[in-house]
Amino acid sequence: MFISYFFLQIKKLGQLGLMGINVSEEYGGPALDSLALSIAVEEIARGCGGTGTIVSVHNTLYANVLDQLGTKEQKDKFLVGFTDGTHVGCFGISEAGAGSDVGAMLTTAKLDGDEWVLNGTKAWVTSGYEAKAAVVFATVDKSKKHKGITAFLVSIPSPGFSLGKKEDKMGIRASSTCNLILEDVRVPREHVLGEHPSNLRAIQIPSVVTDGARIGISSQALGIAQAALDCAVDYASKRIAFGGPIIKLQSVQQRLADMALRLEAARLLTWRAAVIRDTGERSTKYSSMAKLASSEAATFVAHNCVQILGGMGYVTDMPAERHYRDARITEIYAGVTDVQKLVIAENVAKEYGISTSPVDEDPSLLQYCLLVKKWRLFPVEAPHCSCSVMVRNMEVWNTDHIQIMFGLCNCCTRACDITAWNTAAHSTALKTVFHNGCNPCPVRTTKGPVVSSKQYLVVPQTLPTHMSVAGTH
Ligand SMILES: Cc1cc2nc3c(=O)[nH]c(=O)nc-3n(C[C@H](O)[C@H](O)[C@H](O)COP(=O)(O)OP(=O)(O)OC[C@H]3O[C@@H](n4cnc5c(N)ncnc54)[C@H](O)[C@@H]3O)c2cc1C
Repeated sequence: MFISYFFLQIKKLGQLGLMGINVSEEYGGPALDSLALSIAVEEIARGCGGTGTIVSVHNTLYANVLDQLGTKEQKDKFLVGFTDGTHVGCFGISEAGAGSDVGAMLTTAKLDGDEWVLNGTKAWVTSGYEAKAAVVFATVDKSKKHKGITAFLVSIPSPGFSLGKKEDKMGIRASSTCNLILEDVRVPREHVLGEHPSNLRAIQIPSVVTDGARIGISSQALGIAQAALDCAVDYASKRIAFGGPIIKLQSVQQRLADMALRLEAARLLTWRAAVIRDTGERSTKYSSMAKLASSEAATFVAHNCVQILGGMGYVTDMPAERHYRDARITEIYAGVTDVQKLVIAENVAKEYGISTSPVDEDPSLLQYCLLVKKWRLFPVEAPHCSCSVMVRNMEVWNTDHIQIMFGLCNCCTRACDITAWNTAAHSTALKTVFHNGCNPCPVRTTKGPVVSSKQYLVVPQTLPTHMSVAGTH
């Protein structure tokens, strides 16, 4: 009964274009932006927090991931039918022992001929019970921790694939949550998401998805908070105590003012994050700020809603207790509150040229790169380079984790890539500063190995169009 209702609902959501909000028209989506997604998820969650979860997860953690990172063949197989409400997708990164600490992941992927063989159990998977396909994360190289992780597209059902029990949850009960169990599940090589699982790809996938997912869950939290505020105002205007409606009592008004304030501030942060994302800028700091503010606003507003309803807030006759239960999850999934604070602090510190990494990084290098990025200083003395190579016409290009500076080498004044530097926050690789040199310049750095151009060229998968694939001219 529940299942058929689920699919009825998904079908209608698909017909309205809400199961692939950001997806390109070629694959059945309306190709709207992140702000539209935020508004849509908020309104859906205002009606039903659990449906908000289903829509947010499907859009941000499945459809968008395919749309952004999938090959044409992958999209034809895993996106068509997933935007019109025929099928729903799911996303499995968490494990029982690896939630916030993704690097502790135990699920493995081993290459066997032309297939990857997956083994492990993914935990807490939203819509796992109904999904027709899953984005599953597994480690291909345990020694590299989170950098050795990549994503695989798994059809459901598949031989060796099974589901755990449906979790009996406090809230968002319209949304199923379960384990995905993988026992020698074979995945064709071409179902690796993001082409070949090189280190770079493996690192990039989580940050591409988490920024969007946090805007989605932030929007869900806003919807739950708005529903709780609606409920509280309605009740306060009708409940008579001491000769009049309780909304006339100042203490109730103060509660409502605090609720509305927290909600509106969180909404503005969420929309800001969405707009930044839509400009193509990295929204990590704002996505985390939005998620943190909205989830705390949701629990605050829902808590006060129950209070305003008094005894009626505590029974299931009224929706207040449901909002209270639904709100709670928003502080947990898509990164717990404590992790959002770490992400925000890390990004704030970075803006000041300071690293929060426990690894002993080189602050002068970080500062130097930030200066270059902000003000395009040139000529610049590269402080990390043993021979103090001078570079001119510096350009900086960022990927998620690698910052590459292009410029003209003073030794030969020919264009070359000057440095590449790994910014992964907790990576000892940050110290690996390398200079390809421009033949025949004998430039070498003292701080890291010189890599061959072949190795180097794996790093920037999409070079800016005006850049030649440099390094060897
Ligand atoms: C209903 C539901 C749906 C979910 N859906 C999905 C899904 O679709 N796909 C998926 O992959 N996962 C999903 N998850 C998993 C979810 O993302 C994780 O539960 C979440 O990331 C937290 O991980 P954890 O439960 O292991 O908690 P832990 O990581 O063990 O954290 C527990 C507590 O430890 C503290 N803590 C942890 N790390 C830090 C830190 N670095 N600094 C300070 N304090 C810290 C915090 O207080 C935190 O609340 C879902 C979970 C639930 C409950």
